[in-house]
Amino acid sequence: MIERGKSHRIQKRLLKKCNSPFCDHGQVKGICGSFNTCVQCEGAGLVDAETGKALPSNEIIRQLMIKLIEEKRLNEFLRKENSELWRQIPEERRVYPGKSRKD
Ligand SMILES: [Zn+2]
Repeated sequence: MIERGKSHRIQKRLLKKCNSPFCDHGQVKGICGSFNTCVQCEGAGLVDAETGKALPSNEIIRQLMIKLIEEKRLNEFLRKENSELWRQIPEERRVYPGKSRKD
């Protein structure tokens, strides 16, 4: 039976771009312009930041989902902060898109 304890919780890992100088988003350009899957990152374009080794695709997806959720939260926070700062600017000093200060 599989134990589901804290050790099975999803662990956040840092990802980094593949180390291979020939790797372009997981693809390596071959002779005659053909493209091959990069051996180092196994075509993901990303590797484990600590080990520099390829991760299984489901683990990369999981890590990117964690990153996406974090970025969405940050985006939401910055939007709120931005709108609060916007409200502090007096109406006559506000510059709207497509409008210059001289309008
Ligand atoms: Zn690579």
